[in-house]
Amino acid sequence: VELKGKVAIVTGGGKGIGATIAKQLAENGVKVVINYNRSSEAAKKVVQSIHECGGEAIAVQADVSVLEEAKKLVEIAMEKYEKLDILVNNAGITRDRTFKKLSEEDWHKVIDINLNSVYNMTAAALPHIMQSEAGRIINISSIIGQAGGFGQTNYAAAKAGMIGFTKSLALELAKTGVTVNAICPGFIETDMLAEVPEQIKEQIKAKIPMRRFGHADEIARGVLFLCRDGEYMTGQQLNMNGGLYM
Ligand code: NAD
Repeated sequence: VELKGKVAIVTGGGKGIGATIAKQLAENGVKVVINYNRSSEAAKKVVQSIHECGGEAIAVQADVSVLEEAKKLVEIAMEKYEKLDILVNNAGITRDRTFKKLSEEDWHKVIDINLNSVYNMTAAALPHIMQSEAGRIINISSIIGQAGGFGQTNYAAAKAGMIGFTKSLALELAKTGVTVNAICPGFIETDMLAEVPEQIKEQIKAKIPMRRFGHADEIARGVLFLCRDGEYMTGQQLNMNGGLYM
């Protein structure tokens, strides 16, 4: 599939994995709508670096856990680029606590931002993506959604939910040519991993067959693969985790 001229929305694209996905898509000729929630500064820097490399991008503020804001984000993307081919549901947070200590608020917050956002964005974007001859929905799930994680009942439930959503929507859309896949990263060096205590990070690393954490650009290449070469792949989990299966 020729990526040049395609249009993508990347949620939570101001930093980390999302920012790298946005940059790699732009390097390949995709016009990218970079969604951010709070810090416009980081997102604007990503846009600037894309422009400096001759690419096309805009930054749009929206809390994707709110349906009305997700709809507005898609509207702005449509106004600017007049079509939509690719949706990358990347926005996510953790609020790690063992279940005994987990507040109701931290349960709902993690489900809202990681999982309900996927409903919101898909509901808003799908009618437009259906018009594309190579529509792609890519959900950034996690190895934690497959294996569970200590102190992560909320996050694991959300990420597992994304996988079920992915498989089901893929079945419903299979005949249309729109593919729906999840990427399940292992442990990737971003701000999210920086929140994990050093000692626990060392324990995790020792269990990874490749003995290192992944990099955001390695995950972004998974997105590129699905967009460019994934015509016959739908409903799948692309595991990018250094060989780790917990
Ligand atoms: P990150 O914290 O650097 O990035 C998360 C992004 O989501 C940020 O830009 C943040 O502003 C955005 N975001 C948060 N709430 C939002 C909201 N309500 N609306 C819009 N944007 C919002 O972390 P990251 O590691 O780059 O994470 C990206 C994705 O990858 C997440 O879904 C995360 O769960 C997933 N993931 C990360 C790892 C890892 O080890 N880093 C592993 C597996 C999966």
